[in-house]
Amino acid sequence: MDEHKLGYTGNDLILRKILEKNHVTEYLNKFMNGSTDISAFKSQVPVVTYDVVQPYIARIAAGEPSSILCGEQIVELLRSSGTSRSEPRLMPSISEDLYRRTYLYSLIMPIMNKYIRGLGEGKAMYLLFSDQSSLAIRRALISCTANTTCATSIPVLTRSFFAQKVSKAFFASAFLRSISFLEQHWCDLVNDIRIGQLSSNITNSTCRLAIQSFLALPNPELADEIEVICSLESWKGILGKLWPNAKYIEAVLTGTMAQYIPMLEFYSDGKIPLVCTMYASSESYFGVNLRSLCSPEDDGLKLIEDDEVVENDTLVSLVDVKVGCYYELVVTTFSGLYRFRVGDVLQVTGFYNRAPQFKFICRRNVILSVDSDKTNEEDLHNSVTRAKKILENRNYLLLEYASCTDTSTVPGHYVLFWEIKSTYEGATPCVPLDAQLLESCCIAVEEALDYAYRRCRAHDKSVGPLEIRLVEAGAFDDLMDLLVSQGSSINQYKTPRCIESGPALRLLNSRVTGSFFSPRDPEGTV
Ligand code: AMP
Repeated sequence: MDEHKLGYTGNDLILRKILEKNHVTEYLNKFMNGSTDISAFKSQVPVVTYDVVQPYIARIAAGEPSSILCGEQIVELLRSSGTSRSEPRLMPSISEDLYRRTYLYSLIMPIMNKYIRGLGEGKAMYLLFSDQSSLAIRRALISCTANTTCATSIPVLTRSFFAQKVSKAFFASAFLRSISFLEQHWCDLVNDIRIGQLSSNITNSTCRLAIQSFLALPNPELADEIEVICSLESWKGILGKLWPNAKYIEAVLTGTMAQYIPMLEFYSDGKIPLVCTMYASSESYFGVNLRSLCSPEDDGLKLIEDDEVVENDTLVSLVDVKVGCYYELVVTTFSGLYRFRVGDVLQVTGFYNRAPQFKFICRRNVILSVDSDKTNEEDLHNSVTRAKKILENRNYLLLEYASCTDTSTVPGHYVLFWEIKSTYEGATPCVPLDAQLLESCCIAVEEALDYAYRRCRAHDKSVGPLEIRLVEAGAFDDLMDLLVSQGSSINQYKTPRCIESGPALRLLNSRVTGSFFSPRDPEGTV
């Protein structure tokens, strides 16, 4: 039967397959009474966020059968960087998901080959960060690669890797951390290559084994060459010097990761193309970039699956989106997510055949993000409110605050601008606003931030210690004057809680009287 003649779109065909496999699940049965009808699905199954799915995931994790959510066996739960009630969100995954992800990966190289010649002749360097979690719960990217690759750390890389093609890490933040690691440890690398022996600092036995074949013989010429490059006073353009044949650098560079583009351009001296090849998440893999060499600010990702999108709270099929409009992505998957709000906001930039092409705009509500942490305004406010109490107990009042991320350090970190006023009126002397007090505020904020943040800080070390910058009295009034002079309405003025760049950030920085960092890792992380 020609399904197109029946009026089905490609999306409907996939949806029908999902319903055929999953209509018997407890979740879908509740809304559809065992039906596999697509219009019943669209009218009766609600659009949900993670909180609705979480009880089912918790039951499966506690040993109940996968069939409450999914027609297939759920083989792993992928830990998303999103959180729910301060816990990590866990996304169900079935064994055939691996093939779907691999399929998407398999599209990338044919696309890259269209733009860059000679990729098949060289080598690729992949920076894979190993995850310590159990096999059952891990991150989506690790899940795809863990079966075939052992994690590699920079000191054990040799020049034979420094060949033709790419450097690839998932997020741009992780890639920059690797460069920073190299900056700190290149002497070890040079030494190992010179004597042909791996430093005893590398204790992981699998790692040692994997690298032994590369370090079989001393290679003083290569060691000298790397030493000369790494000893240069400036590391501007270091990537092109160490990897002279590098054709491109691949990483997630869009959305909040765009803040790292200037640093990457510094290290590549703007000479190696930065490429964001795909758009994926723990929920599903969504699309590939058809215009690989376009600027990261202008990506041409293409949605390929069976998804829907939200426009002004109304659901729209992928084929019906309009160019230029903004949408939030909603997915239905084979593995047990039905009309699930991913939380990403995308702008449609055009069509490839009937599939929309889009630009990643942002994660809904997120105001601060350095790595896979995603902090929204409410989380930030609750954390600051918690820390504010410490000040109030010492006769100080937090008058105003704003925040930004500082990615000039590696890893980057959160910065809070605080304007504080003394409320002391009594007979006992006021306790001075000392470093210890403000450091305890830093810790209180960090410990009140969500699981993903605390994990990045204390476990992955991908976010640096939070900083409070005290600003002088009147700084936030000056900020208001500035923003009003730039067009904000004075009647509706609300202090922006996150200031990304520009004159407003320069103004606050110019009023800083002291800076204080969290003195230790936040507690309460798994
Ligand atoms: P995770 O939560 O760890 O599964 O990471 C998935 C999230 O990372 C997505 O929902 C996006 O917010 C973000 N992401 C993934 N790929 C891209 C991309 N190409 N550009 C921007 N953000 C991305």
